[in-house]
Amino acid sequence: MSELTIALTKGRILKETLPLLARAGIEPLEDMGASRKLVFPTSRAGVRLLILRGSDVPTYVQYGAADLGVSGKDTLMEHGGHGFYEPLDLKIARCKLMTAAEAGVPPRNGRIRVATKYVNVARRYYAEQGRQADIIKLYGAMELAPIMALADEIVDIVDTGNTLRANGLEPREAIAEISSRLIVNRVSMKTKHGAIQPLLDQLAAALEVPKAG
Ligand code: AMP
Repeated sequence: MSELTIALTKGRILKETLPLLARAGIEPLEDMGASRKLVFPTSRAGVRLLILRGSDVPTYVQYGAADLGVSGKDTLMEHGGHGFYEPLDLKIARCKLMTAAEAGVPPRNGRIRVATKYVNVARRYYAEQGRQADIIKLYGAMELAPIMALADEIVDIVDTGNTLRANGLEPREAIAEISSRLIVNRVSMKTKHGAIQPLLDQLAAALEVPKAG
């Protein structure tokens, strides 16, 4: 039987993906949240799970170091999506990718500064809008940038909007609806089709079953 490696990331994606995998008969043999290990055998022979940094999941799948992965659409948009298929929207970890700015401050004309960890997405978005923007890469706490006058706007993930509000910001434009996607390496899809297609079917069926509670 061919080995299948599935790349996941800790936090929301792990928590919401494990029940779906369990319905497809794949359960880690130990508590992944509690362990410091990065590779986990599962109840299904030949299937193992990897824990990676979120932004590394598409890279592992692109190069075939993992056959499958679960990644937020935001991460896929930023990565560029080369080398893999995106056959399934898992409809989990939903949120929006948005621009935001200081509450009540009207949009500035002319060239603006935008702080974000999504530099590729932001560059594309402002170019499409015909707005001139200098994109500043940050690794966290994007909400601070407008308050400290580092940037006029930010591009970030928004769920309830509480984080923006708590920092004196307001959401402006929606760039994309985000949810987690299952991605599959293009070569694996061919060479391991016999193992991957049934798993895709099982996960698709698991998505149809209403969640308990
Ligand atoms: P909120 O205050 O509910 O708008 O949540 C905003 C923060 O939570 C963002 O800055 C993100 O860091 C994080 N967040 C919310 N939803 C998601 C998601 N689906 N995936 C990843 N991060 C998220």
